Amino acid sequence: MPESIVSLENTLNELEARVRERIDAAVTPEDLEAVRLEALSRKAPLNQFGKQMGQLPPEERARVGKLLNAVKEGLETAFEARKAQFEREALAHRLDSEWVDLTLPAPGPRPGSLHPVTQMQAEIEDLFTSMGFAVLGGPEVETEYHNFDALNIPPHHPARDMQDTFWLTDGNLLRTHTSPVQVRGMERLGPPLRMIAPGRVFRNEEVDASHDHTFYQVEGMMVDREVSVAHLIYFMKTLLSHIFRREVTVRLRPGYFPFVEPGFELDIQCLICGGPGCPVCKQSGWVELLPCGLVQPNVLRMSGIDPEEWNGFAFGLGLTRLAMMRYAIDDIRLLQSGDLRFLTQF
Ligand SMILES: [Zn+2]
Repeated sequence: MPESIVSLENTLNELEARVRERIDAAVTPEDLEAVRLEALSRKAPLNQFGKQMGQLPPEERARVGKLLNAVKEGLETAFEARKAQFEREALAHRLDSEWVDLTLPAPGPRPGSLHPVTQMQAEIEDLFTSMGFAVLGGPEVETEYHNFDALNIPPHHPARDMQDTFWLTDGNLLRTHTSPVQVRGMERLGPPLRMIAPGRVFRNEEVDASHDHTFYQVEGMMVDREVSVAHLIYFMKTLLSHIFRREVTVRLRPGYFPFVEPGFELDIQCLICGGPGCPVCKQSGWVELLPCGLVQPNVLRMSGIDPEEWNGFAFGLGLTRLAMMRYAIDDIRLLQSGDLRFLTQF
């Protein structure tokens, strides 16, 4: 066998061995593809080799040509095998990472939680129930009489402007406060009476971080013989100490509300600074919290109660506002957003 053929065959085997080494060394499918493109490209030594064959005598050329084809085919097979190996490894990795034990019990639906306003309402209901108050409900669509007239707010009274609401075409309206429930309570149950009325109320408000068209209140009243401002203060202090879970200091300032006489604004000493003044209390040391007072005799009379014999106190409290104070919620719109990222915190 001529020397030249042996040396060509050796060169070919060496080329093949070098490419196989690189196939084995490839770490990723991308590496492998780069090796394949390079090894089988037109300019690759293997293809350059074909050109040199032209100078060989015909029978040798055929023999070397056969060998060259065998080497190329062998390399193609090696590339395919390595590629398939990468695919198997990727699949095994995926099966491994996505493995689920189907024999484990299912996690079940995620438990829900009560809305912060609902929690606040439930707490206040429990407290007042324990002090002998009834919890009453009433319609959200009210008559003009129950929402305004029976509370000493006749047509053209300025207080109606402060409670702009949504009127229905039949002359009824969405209640602007839960006070109509007090009227209904007095009408139906008569004195002596201890009741609270928690619920949803509506105002035609421009919505922003501190105003919403829909919010929650709790109003309450006690009608009995010789009810005084001292009773009012006692119940309000009990209520607020319970809500804020500490002793609170309150003060009354005169305030005008058509359905009470005398009427008060009840303030609590700022829970943040304790009195000296801070941004929350606008440096005053006090935070305005709830309107209250002794029930106006006209209001009692309109509900069929004799003001000569009976009197009482009434108060109103923003449940929404209380929830915002307790949980330091700075945007009222979050409360009705239905956003679970917000709600699951409670
Ligand atoms: Zn303060």
